Amino acid sequence: MNFEPDELDELLTRLRLPGIRDQLDTLLDEASRQDLNLREAITFLFKAEVQRKEQRRITMAMRIAHFPAVRTLETFNYEAQPSVDPKYIRELATSRWVANGDTVFLQGPPGVGKTHLAIALGREAINQGYSVLFTLATSLLADLTKAHDEGKLEDKLRFYGKPKLLIIDELGYLPFAQNAAHLFFQLVSRRYERGAVLVTSNRAISEWGGVLGDAVVATAVLDRLLHHSHVLTIRGDSYRLRQKRQSGLIRKQEGTS
Ligand code: ADP
Ligand code: MG
Repeated sequence: MNFEPDELDELLTRLRLPGIRDQLDTLLDEASRQDLNLREAITFLFKAEVQRKEQRRITMAMRIAHFPAVRTLETFNYEAQPSVDPKYIRELATSRWVANGDTVFLQGPPGVGKTHLAIALGREAINQGYSVLFTLATSLLADLTKAHDEGKLEDKLRFYGKPKLLIIDELGYLPFAQNAAHLFFQLVSRRYERGAVLVTSNRAISEWGGVLGDAVVATAVLDRLLHHSHVLTIRGDSYRLRQKRQSGLIRKQEGTS
Protein backbone atom coordinates (compact mmCIF):
# COMPACT_ATOMS: atom_id res chain seq x y z
CA MET A 1 0.00 0.00 0.00
CA ASN A 2 1.09 3.55 -0.75
CA PHE A 3 0.59 6.31 1.77
CA GLU A 4 0.84 10.04 1.15
CA PRO A 5 2.53 11.95 3.98
CA ASP A 6 -0.54 14.10 4.73
CA GLU A 7 -3.07 11.41 4.11
CA LEU A 8 -3.82 10.59 7.74
CA ASP A 9 -4.36 14.24 8.56
CA GLU A 10 -6.90 14.55 5.75
CA LEU A 11 -8.65 11.33 6.71
CA LEU A 12 -8.97 12.47 10.31
CA THR A 13 -10.44 15.75 9.13
CA ARG A 14 -12.92 13.99 6.86
CA LEU A 15 -13.92 11.67 9.70
CA ARG A 16 -14.28 14.68 12.01
CA LEU A 17 -11.70 13.46 14.49
CA PRO A 18 -9.88 16.72 15.26
CA GLY A 19 -8.90 15.55 18.75
CA ILE A 20 -6.72 12.82 17.26
CA ARG A 21 -5.59 14.98 14.32
CA ASP A 22 -4.41 17.96 16.37
CA GLN A 23 -2.42 15.89 18.87
CA LEU A 24 -1.38 13.10 16.57
CA ASP A 25 2.38 13.30 17.10
CA THR A 26 2.07 13.63 20.86
CA LEU A 27 -0.41 10.76 21.04
CA LEU A 28 1.71 8.48 18.85
CA ASP A 29 4.83 9.29 20.87
CA GLU A 30 2.98 8.50 24.06
CA ALA A 31 1.63 5.25 22.61
CA SER A 32 5.10 4.07 21.65
CA ARG A 33 6.57 5.20 24.97
CA GLN A 34 4.00 3.05 26.74
CA ASP A 35 4.76 0.22 24.34
CA LEU A 36 1.09 -0.15 23.41
CA ASN A 37 0.08 -2.81 20.92
CA LEU A 38 -1.99 -1.75 17.92
CA ARG A 39 -5.37 -2.29 19.52
CA GLU A 40 -4.33 -0.45 22.68
CA ALA A 41 -2.89 2.41 20.65
CA ILE A 42 -6.13 2.80 18.68
CA THR A 43 -8.14 2.75 21.90
CA PHE A 44 -5.82 5.39 23.34
CA LEU A 45 -6.33 7.64 20.29
CA PHE A 46 -10.10 7.30 20.31
CA LYS A 47 -10.22 8.02 24.02
CA ALA A 48 -8.50 11.34 23.34
CA GLU A 49 -11.11 12.13 20.68
CA VAL A 50 -14.04 11.25 22.94
CA GLN A 51 -12.59 13.42 25.71
CA ARG A 52 -12.30 16.37 23.38
CA LYS A 53 -15.83 15.96 22.03
CA GLU A 54 -17.21 15.69 25.57
CA GLN A 55 -15.33 18.82 26.62
CA ARG A 56 -16.76 20.73 23.66
CA ARG A 57 -20.26 19.52 24.37
CA ILE A 58 -19.98 20.76 27.95
CA THR A 59 -18.58 24.13 26.89
CA MET A 60 -21.41 24.61 24.38
CA ALA A 61 -24.11 23.45 26.80
CA MET A 62 -22.84 25.82 29.51
CA ARG A 63 -23.08 28.68 27.03
CA ILE A 64 -26.59 27.72 25.91
CA ALA A 65 -27.75 27.41 29.54
CA HIS A 66 -27.23 31.16 30.14
CA PHE A 67 -26.13 30.87 33.74
CA PRO A 68 -25.76 34.37 35.21
CA ALA A 69 -22.51 33.43 36.98
CA VAL A 70 -20.21 30.51 37.71
CA ARG A 71 -21.27 28.77 40.92
CA THR A 72 -20.30 25.21 41.79
CA LEU A 73 -21.02 22.68 44.50
CA GLU A 74 -17.31 22.65 45.34
CA THR A 75 -17.49 26.30 46.36
CA PHE A 76 -20.68 25.93 48.42
CA ASN A 77 -19.87 26.24 52.09
CA TYR A 78 -22.10 23.80 54.01
CA GLU A 79 -20.82 24.90 57.40
CA ALA A 80 -22.17 28.37 56.76
CA GLN A 81 -25.54 26.89 55.86
CA PRO A 82 -26.54 24.20 58.38
CA SER A 83 -30.12 23.96 57.03
CA VAL A 84 -28.75 22.40 53.83
CA ASP A 85 -27.96 18.70 54.12
CA PRO A 86 -24.84 17.86 52.07
CA LYS A 87 -26.08 14.30 51.58
CA TYR A 88 -29.30 15.58 50.03
CA ILE A 89 -27.40 17.88 47.69
CA ARG A 90 -25.06 15.03 46.71
CA GLU A 91 -28.11 12.95 45.84
CA LEU A 92 -29.52 15.80 43.72
CA ALA A 93 -26.08 16.20 42.09
CA THR A 94 -26.44 12.72 40.57
CA SER A 95 -29.15 14.33 38.36
CA ARG A 96 -31.45 11.34 38.75
CA TRP A 97 -34.26 13.83 39.35
CA VAL A 98 -33.42 15.48 36.02
CA ALA A 99 -33.59 12.14 34.23
CA ASN A 100 -36.98 11.49 35.84
CA GLY A 101 -38.39 14.91 34.96
CA ASP A 102 -38.96 15.81 38.63
CA THR A 103 -39.29 19.25 40.20
CA VAL A 104 -36.92 20.76 42.76
CA PHE A 105 -38.07 23.71 44.88
CA LEU A 106 -35.43 25.79 46.63
CA GLN A 107 -37.15 28.18 48.97
CA GLY A 108 -35.83 30.62 51.53
CA PRO A 109 -35.04 34.28 52.25
CA PRO A 110 -32.66 36.35 50.09
CA GLY A 111 -28.94 35.64 50.13
CA VAL A 112 -29.01 32.11 51.53
CA GLY A 113 -27.59 30.43 48.43
CA LYS A 114 -30.65 29.46 46.36
CA THR A 115 -29.31 30.78 43.06
CA HIS A 116 -25.86 29.39 43.89
CA LEU A 117 -27.28 25.88 44.36
CA ALA A 118 -29.56 26.22 41.32
CA ILE A 119 -26.60 27.05 39.06
CA ALA A 120 -24.41 24.37 40.64
CA LEU A 121 -27.07 21.68 40.14
CA GLY A 122 -27.60 22.91 36.58
CA ARG A 123 -23.89 22.49 35.89
CA GLU A 124 -23.97 18.97 37.31
CA ALA A 125 -26.87 18.13 34.98
CA ILE A 126 -24.86 19.40 32.00
CA ASN A 127 -21.84 17.36 33.06
CA GLN A 128 -24.09 14.33 33.01
CA GLY A 129 -25.29 15.02 29.50
CA TYR A 130 -28.54 16.94 29.96
CA SER A 131 -29.54 20.23 28.35
CA VAL A 132 -30.26 23.10 30.74
CA LEU A 133 -31.75 26.59 30.45
CA PHE A 134 -31.55 29.13 33.26
CA THR A 135 -34.08 31.96 33.31
CA LEU A 136 -35.33 34.59 35.71
CA ALA A 137 -39.03 34.20 36.43
CA THR A 138 -39.67 37.81 35.41
CA SER A 139 -38.01 37.42 32.01
CA LEU A 140 -39.71 34.07 31.41
CA LEU A 141 -43.14 35.56 32.09
CA ALA A 142 -42.42 38.72 30.08
CA ASP A 143 -41.24 36.55 27.20
CA LEU A 144 -44.33 34.32 27.28
CA THR A 145 -46.64 37.35 27.53
CA LYS A 146 -44.98 39.09 24.59
CA ALA A 147 -45.11 35.94 22.49
CA HIS A 148 -48.77 35.49 23.38
CA ASP A 149 -49.58 39.07 22.34
CA GLU A 150 -47.78 38.54 19.04
CA GLY A 151 -49.51 35.24 18.35
CA LYS A 152 -46.27 33.30 18.76
CA LEU A 153 -46.93 31.56 22.04
CA GLU A 154 -46.50 28.10 20.55
CA ASP A 155 -42.92 28.91 19.47
CA LYS A 156 -42.02 30.09 22.96
CA LEU A 157 -43.66 27.12 24.65
CA ARG A 158 -41.59 24.89 22.41
CA PHE A 159 -38.43 26.86 23.24
CA TYR A 160 -38.95 26.67 27.00
CA GLY A 161 -40.28 23.15 26.74
CA LYS A 162 -37.17 21.79 25.09
CA PRO A 163 -34.32 21.78 27.64
CA LYS A 164 -34.29 18.70 29.83
CA LEU A 165 -33.95 20.99 32.85
CA LEU A 166 -35.52 24.45 33.06
CA ILE A 167 -34.32 26.58 35.99
CA ILE A 168 -36.71 29.36 36.98
CA ASP A 169 -35.00 31.73 39.40
CA GLU A 170 -36.71 34.15 41.78
CA LEU A 171 -40.30 33.13 41.31
CA GLY A 172 -42.56 35.17 43.56
CA TYR A 173 -40.38 38.21 44.12
CA LEU A 174 -42.88 40.09 41.97
CA PRO A 175 -46.55 39.10 41.72
CA PHE A 176 -47.62 37.72 38.33
CA ALA A 177 -49.18 40.18 35.92
CA GLN A 178 -52.70 39.47 34.71
CA ASN A 179 -52.91 36.45 32.41
CA ALA A 180 -49.30 35.43 33.20
CA ALA A 181 -50.52 32.65 35.49
CA HIS A 182 -52.38 31.02 32.58
CA LEU A 183 -49.29 31.21 30.38
CA PHE A 184 -47.16 29.76 33.16
CA PHE A 185 -49.68 26.94 33.55
CA GLN A 186 -49.38 26.14 29.85
CA LEU A 187 -45.61 25.93 30.16
CA VAL A 188 -45.78 23.70 33.23
CA SER A 189 -48.28 21.42 31.47
CA ARG A 190 -46.06 21.26 28.43
CA ARG A 191 -43.11 20.09 30.50
CA TYR A 192 -45.07 17.86 32.86
CA GLU A 193 -43.42 14.46 33.32
CA ARG A 194 -41.09 15.16 30.41
CA GLY A 195 -38.69 17.87 31.50
CA ALA A 196 -37.39 18.66 34.97
CA VAL A 197 -37.95 22.06 36.58
CA LEU A 198 -35.97 23.78 39.33
CA VAL A 199 -37.70 26.75 40.96
CA THR A 200 -36.14 29.12 43.46
CA SER A 201 -38.43 31.34 45.47
CA ASN A 202 -38.53 33.51 48.56
CA ARG A 203 -42.12 32.37 49.09
CA ALA A 204 -43.34 29.12 50.55
CA ILE A 205 -45.39 26.86 48.30
CA SER A 206 -48.45 27.61 50.45
CA GLU A 207 -48.24 31.23 49.27
CA TRP A 208 -48.32 30.46 45.56
CA GLY A 209 -51.99 31.38 45.24
CA GLY A 210 -51.04 34.95 46.07
CA VAL A 211 -47.93 34.88 43.89
CA LEU A 212 -49.76 33.71 40.79
CA GLY A 213 -52.72 35.94 41.58
CA ASP A 214 -55.15 33.15 40.78
CA ALA A 215 -55.82 30.41 43.31
CA VAL A 216 -57.40 28.01 40.79
CA VAL A 217 -54.50 28.21 38.34
CA ALA A 218 -52.00 28.02 41.21
CA THR A 219 -53.60 24.77 42.36
CA ALA A 220 -53.40 23.33 38.85
CA VAL A 221 -49.76 24.41 38.49
CA LEU A 222 -48.78 22.98 41.87
CA ASP A 223 -50.69 19.77 41.19
CA ARG A 224 -48.30 19.12 38.33
CA LEU A 225 -45.11 20.52 39.84
CA LEU A 226 -45.56 18.78 43.18
CA HIS A 227 -46.36 15.37 41.70
CA HIS A 228 -42.70 14.31 41.66
CA SER A 229 -40.93 16.93 43.69
CA HIS A 230 -38.12 17.59 46.13
CA VAL A 231 -38.56 20.59 48.41
CA LEU A 232 -35.54 22.17 50.04
CA THR A 233 -36.18 24.93 52.57
CA ILE A 234 -33.12 27.02 53.34
CA ARG A 235 -33.11 29.09 56.49
CA GLY A 236 -30.77 31.55 58.08
CA ASP A 237 -29.01 34.80 57.36
CA SER A 238 -27.82 36.17 54.06
CA TYR A 239 -24.40 34.72 53.31
CA ARG A 240 -23.04 38.03 52.05
CA LEU A 241 -24.26 40.03 55.02
CA ARG A 242 -22.79 37.45 57.34
CA GLN A 243 -19.41 37.69 55.63
CA LYS A 244 -19.49 41.45 55.89
CA ARG A 245 -20.40 41.17 59.54
CA GLN A 246 -17.55 38.76 60.17
CA SER A 247 -15.12 41.13 58.52
CA GLY A 248 -16.42 43.93 60.76
CA LEU A 249 -17.89 45.97 57.92
CA ILE A 250 -21.31 46.03 59.53
CA ARG A 251 -22.44 45.20 63.01
CA LYS A 252 -24.96 42.56 63.95
CA GLN A 253 -28.34 44.04 64.79
CA GLU A 254 -29.47 43.75 68.38
CA GLY A 255 -31.66 40.74 69.04
CA THR A 256 -30.99 38.85 65.80
CA SER A 257 -28.98 35.69 65.64
P1 ADP B 1 -30.19 33.69 46.96
O1 ADP B 1 -30.36 33.24 45.55
O2 ADP B 1 -30.73 32.73 47.96
O3 ADP B 1 -30.69 35.09 47.18
P2 ADP B 1 -27.38 33.56 46.28
O4 ADP B 1 -27.26 32.15 45.84
O5 ADP B 1 -27.42 34.59 45.21
O6 ADP B 1 -28.62 33.74 47.26
O7 ADP B 1 -26.18 33.88 47.28
C1 ADP B 1 -25.67 35.18 47.45
C2 ADP B 1 -24.16 35.14 47.33
O8 ADP B 1 -23.59 34.42 48.40
C3 ADP B 1 -23.69 34.44 46.06
O9 ADP B 1 -22.53 35.05 45.60
C4 ADP B 1 -23.39 33.02 46.53
O10 ADP B 1 -22.40 32.41 45.73
C5 ADP B 1 -22.92 33.25 47.95
N1 ADP B 1 -23.32 32.15 48.85
C6 ADP B 1 -24.50 32.00 49.45
N2 ADP B 1 -24.51 30.93 50.25
C7 ADP B 1 -23.28 30.38 50.15
C8 ADP B 1 -22.64 29.25 50.75
N3 ADP B 1 -23.26 28.47 51.66
N4 ADP B 1 -21.35 28.99 50.40
C9 ADP B 1 -20.70 29.78 49.53
N5 ADP B 1 -21.24 30.87 48.94
C10 ADP B 1 -22.51 31.17 49.24
MG1 MG C 1 -31.14 34.33 44.00
